[in-house]
Amino acid sequence: MDTATVNQKHKEYIFPCVTNYYETPLAIKEGEGLYIRDWEGNKYLDFFGGILTVSIGHCQTEIVEEIQDQIHTLQHSSTLYPNYPMVMLAEKLAQITPGRLRKSFFTNSGTEANETAIVAAQLHTGVKEIIALRHSYHGRSILASNLTGHASWRAAAGTAIPGITHAVSPYCFRCAFGLTYPSCDVRCARDIEELIKTTTSGKIAAFIAEPIQGVGGFITPPKEYFQVAAGIVRKYGGLFISDEVQTGFGRTGTKWFGIEHWGVEPDMMTFAKGLANGSPIGATIATPEVADSFKASSISTFGGNPVSMRAGIATINYMEKHNLPEHVEKVGNYLKDKLLELQDKYSLIGEVRGMGLILGMELVKEKKEPAVNEILQLFENTKKKGLLIGKGGLYGNVVRITPPMTVEKSHIAEAVKILDQSFADI
Ligand code: PMP
Repeated sequence: MDTATVNQKHKEYIFPCVTNYYETPLAIKEGEGLYIRDWEGNKYLDFFGGILTVSIGHCQTEIVEEIQDQIHTLQHSSTLYPNYPMVMLAEKLAQITPGRLRKSFFTNSGTEANETAIVAAQLHTGVKEIIALRHSYHGRSILASNLTGHASWRAAAGTAIPGITHAVSPYCFRCAFGLTYPSCDVRCARDIEELIKTTTSGKIAAFIAEPIQGVGGFITPPKEYFQVAAGIVRKYGGLFISDEVQTGFGRTGTKWFGIEHWGVEPDMMTFAKGLANGSPIGATIATPEVADSFKASSISTFGGNPVSMRAGIATINYMEKHNLPEHVEKVGNYLKDKLLELQDKYSLIGEVRGMGLILGMELVKEKKEPAVNEILQLFENTKKKGLLIGKGGLYGNVVRITPPMTVEKSHIAEAVKILDQSFADI
C-alpha cells in the first residue's frame, strides 16, 4: 500500500465531510509511543495524539496486552448481562472523579456521552432548556451539534433543537464585551443570569461547558469564571455538566480533570477520547440522585463493551502508576515556556494559552486578524520536518499542541526546534 492509493480511495469511497489535514493528506500506517510512520516509512513526532486520544502513546504495550487478553476471553456480551470490566471501570471513575459523582453510563463516543448527560439533566429537573457556550464543541449528532457553538460544525444538521441558548465564551483574547480581565469582573459569567431571564422560561435543566474549550482553540477561562457561572446556573435550578472529553485524565496537569482547577463540583461529567488510549469509548458520570432519575429505557449495544472497558481500566492504571498528572504539570510548564519564547520571536503568535499538555497558540496578523493562510503554511512546514500538530478555533487559526502525556523533555526539544524553523520559514 502507499499514500497515494489510500488518498485516492478515501476520495472515492468516504463521505466528503471527512476532511484531512495537509495539501497531500498523511496516510498513517503505524504508531509506536510518540511516533507514527506513513506508508512510505517517513517518521513523524506526534504532538496531537489523534486529537488528544492517544493519551499515553501509540500501541502502548501494557494496554495492548490487556486488549488482547480480553479479546481472547470475551469480546462482547451487550449490557443485558452485567460485565466485570464495565463495573470495574465505573468503580474506578467514581474513585477518581471529584465530589459526589458516582454512577456511570457507557457509550462509544463523546457525542453520545453528552446526549446521555443532557437527557439525564432533563429527566432529573423536569425542564428541557439548556445553556451552552459560544465557541464550544460537543459532538456531531443533531443534539450535540446544536449544543456546539461553531457555525461550521452546526451546518450539517442545521439548527434543529429548540431550547438551547448560547452564553458568551470566556475568550479574553477576543472578549465579546470588549472588556479586559480582571476589571471586567467576569462579565461573561455574570451575563448568564440575564441570558436565563431573557431567553429561557426562567428555569433551565443544565449548563454544559468544557473547562478549556478544545475545538474552540484551547480557550482558557479566567479562574473565577466557572464559580460565578455555576452559581447562577444552580440558582435557576440547572445542573452543571463538565464536558471533559478533551480536558480529562490528567491532561491539564496535577489534577485528573479540568474542572478541578476551577473549584467547582459538577453534577455530571462526560468523557471519551483519551480515557481508553484510542479504543472507542464514551462515558457519563453523575451524582447518585441525577443518575437515579434516569429510569426510562435506554440501551447502547456496544456501550460498556468489555474490550474498551479493559482498555480504559488499563489506561487509568498506567496513569496512576506513572503519576501522569504530576508529570504533565512538569513537562507542560517546560513546553509552555518554550512556546512563550517562540512568541517573543515571532509576532505571528498572538497568544500562548492553556495549561498542562493542552496548549494553544493563536496566530494573528495586525489587529488580531486571524492568520489563516499562515497556519496552513505552518502545517506544511512542520509536516515536511516530521512533526504533527493540531488546529482549532472559530477561524482555524489556533495551533493545538497535545502530545501523548508520556512525552519527555527530549521530545519537546525536538518539537520546539521544528516549530522554530517552521515559523522562521514563513
Ligand atoms: N466534546 C468535546 C469537548 C470534544 O472535543 C468532542 C470531540 N472533538 C466531543 C465532545 C465529541 O466526541 P466524539 O467525536 O467522540 O463524538
